[in-house]
Amino acid sequence: MLRFASYDIVFQEVPDEVTLAINLSNCPNRCKGCHSPYLMEDIGNVLDRHALDILLGKYGGAITCVCFMGGDASPKEVEELASYVHHITGNRIKTGWYSGKAVLPKGCSLEHFDYIKLGPYIEQFGGLDSPTTNQRFYCVSNGMMMDVTVRFQKKKAL
Ligand code: SF4
Repeated sequence: MLRFASYDIVFQEVPDEVTLAINLSNCPNRCKGCHSPYLMEDIGNVLDRHALDILLGKYGGAITCVCFMGGDASPKEVEELASYVHHITGNRIKTGWYSGKAVLPKGCSLEHFDYIKLGPYIEQFGGLDSPTTNQRFYCVSNGMMMDVTVRFQKKKAL
């Protein structure tokens, strides 16, 4: 079962989108130097279709994207909820997923995602805005993943 500890409207996490970022708890990845260690605990409210209905009712008119931050303990549920967002908004609202896994979990499809970030946080390599990062950020189009990680690094240089 997915739970979310918090959410926020953000502008940097997904380039060119106004994003409702939903911070999922129960993260199994245990990255050293984790930015939000509390997300390793199984805390927060259940994130299901009903909870998404409420969030989209509040913020759906103001956002262009919903991004699931985490959820690696239940990847199929993340995929199912991304599909639900596309379905109930007629694809008006895009979907993203920040996964800490190095590759897309087995059995997960790209079909219901417009953006995917892959890779654990490794201190010496840094996050997406670091030129040495191991993490990758992809735009998904027609089943293909296009690596656009460089967009995060350019932002930092400006
Ligand atoms: S994937 Fe993110 S939340 Fe999970 S341990 Fe790593 S840095 Fe922390």
